[in-house]
Amino acid sequence: MQTGNINVKTENIFPVIKKFLYSDHEIFLRELISNAVDATQKIKTLASRGETNSELGDLTIVVKVNKEDKTIRVMDRGIGMTAEEVDRYINQIAFSGAEDFLSKYKGNDAANIIGHFGLGFYSSFMVADQVEIITKSYKEGSKAVKWSCDGSPSFSMEEIEKEDRGTEIILHVAEDTEEFLNEDKIVGLLNKYCRFLPIPILCGTKTEWRKPEPKPEDENAENKEEPKEEAVQVPRIINDTDPIWQKSPSSLKDEDYQKFYHELYPMAMEDPMFQIHLNVDYPFNLTGVLYFPKVKNQLDLQKNRVQLYCNQVYITDELEGIIPEFMTLLHGVIDSPDIPLNVSRSYLQSDSNVKKISSYISKKVAEKLESMYKENREDFEKKWDELKVFLQYGSLTDEKFYEKIKDFYLLKSTDGKYYTLEEYRNLISALQTDKNDMVIMLYAANVDEQHLYIQSAKEKGYDVLLMDGFFDAHFINMLEQKNEKIRFTRVDADIIDKLIEKKDEVCPAKLSDDQQKSLKEFFTKSVNEQMFTVMVDNLSETDLPVLITQNEFMRRFKDMERVSGKQGIYGGFEHYNIVVNGNHPLASRVLNEVDEEKRTKLVQQMVDLALLSQNILTGEKLSDFVKRSFDLL
Ligand code: ADP
Repeated sequence: MQTGNINVKTENIFPVIKKFLYSDHEIFLRELISNAVDATQKIKTLASRGETNSELGDLTIVVKVNKEDKTIRVMDRGIGMTAEEVDRYINQIAFSGAEDFLSKYKGNDAANIIGHFGLGFYSSFMVADQVEIITKSYKEGSKAVKWSCDGSPSFSMEEIEKEDRGTEIILHVAEDTEEFLNEDKIVGLLNKYCRFLPIPILCGTKTEWRKPEPKPEDENAENKEEPKEEAVQVPRIINDTDPIWQKSPSSLKDEDYQKFYHELYPMAMEDPMFQIHLNVDYPFNLTGVLYFPKVKNQLDLQKNRVQLYCNQVYITDELEGIIPEFMTLLHGVIDSPDIPLNVSRSYLQSDSNVKKISSYISKKVAEKLESMYKENREDFEKKWDELKVFLQYGSLTDEKFYEKIKDFYLLKSTDGKYYTLEEYRNLISALQTDKNDMVIMLYAANVDEQHLYIQSAKEKGYDVLLMDGFFDAHFINMLEQKNEKIRFTRVDADIIDKLIEKKDEVCPAKLSDDQQKSLKEFFTKSVNEQMFTVMVDNLSETDLPVLITQNEFMRRFKDMERVSGKQGIYGGFEHYNIVVNGNHPLASRVLNEVDEEKRTKLVQQMVDLALLSQNILTGEKLSDFVKRSFDLL
């Protein structure tokens, strides 16, 4: 037997690492399985090149949990190691890797590290106080060796009998991490980290319900009974060794992508809208499938996140900084060996490869959307309501993305029709251009609440857009910034003729200036609240006698504050204008009424009706209104 000291400078650095990565003890399994997969891939490569006579045989990697002797075993039939290789790779390299790791990350926030790659084999000591390696190289004539170590820098190594090529790692699980001796827990971890590894991984058995094979004597039996299903134990293979993102897109159908989606997110209720298959090998390697989910369920959005893999090994689903921000709304997988994994998040965000990857994905997504738009506009329009949020969020967080999608970003009218900005501008510019040559795009945020205003705009031949999305307030600002000659204004921001100020059309006033002044006084007296400003305007006789409007700028500002969760100067109170139509017959009636009590009632009734139409008449005011209305009847 050989014993010796491992080449590390610090005495037992292990407890430090263990403490340091406290929440990540579980990654030991990912590391061991990755090594087993690597070793198995290597033997396959050697065999394919004819560089070994060794029969490949069954290459399944087996994981065994034994509660009795408190061990976890990981067995592979890969290339194995000779005694010299164990000395080189384990005693020298693996341990120095651990030391390296520690010196790099000392003082760093553990949460700042993703992947923790590089710790490798050494991470076994996170859960074991004694680790053995039994290994036999594929090389002809090599002897099997057993290496054993308790995490201190001393180890032992001896020759041993082992029939088969390959490596078995035996972890003697430490008392404080005995929760890992639960097979279900191990299966859970394998499902998390190893679900798409390229070599089959077996752990324990699972129950399957099957019909028994018919026995020969049953064949001849007279009244054949349908055999009952019975429970049988079958080996449990954890992984899908050939996941969809590694396949060629041309070999796949929509159903395959949908099936994979549900494999990835078993809790997702709905199918995704569509997907993008990413596949690039220059200037970096990246494969993946990104899904556009249906956004009806906000919960799914947060729960089912894009997962990052490195050569089919699961790394993380915290991808902020790696993929474009709006992509975090998408679902699916990305696999890239070129993303540096053992570095901190802030480093990652400035890494040039990561930046390239991020802009590549963004470009790919835009291209896919564009081809959908061009190939089948009707279908694109059908998906639009759900797509909109991604395009808006994408544009708001990345101007380059906006440049790529702006030609097929759609506006939806309150009639349910869809237009590109250009189409819409052409459609409305004749009627809705104001005296400063601004094209005024009218919109409603809620067709029910603003019904009255939409209707009156339409009666005048104007078109009204629907802007009822979460990001619409922000997006409108962006569209205005990008397009100098258009302005958005909500239908209830002012009386319609003022929203689209024309050069020539002016409605002449029926009332004298003095009359208008007294009208304003009557109304101001009867509302008498800070929340309202009364103004008299000269609309046509057919317009409503009283309208409630809300200044576009103020309202938008408040909307944006709401979206960003901030409460600023406008957050405290609502403010509305009460616009009295001086040309309406009711205005003359108010002026001609000599009985003060009757006049007050009339004015109040007019104001309340207008408020009611805007859904802002509530509480005591509403009760008063109802009582007064009955009295009038
Ligand atoms: P890494 O895998 O990052 O190189 P590790 O510490 O995990 O670092 O492993 C060190 C080396 O030990 C590996 O590069 C490999 O050569 C060897 N090794 C580890 N596990 C196995 C195994 N199951 N079969 C064959 N060789 C292995």
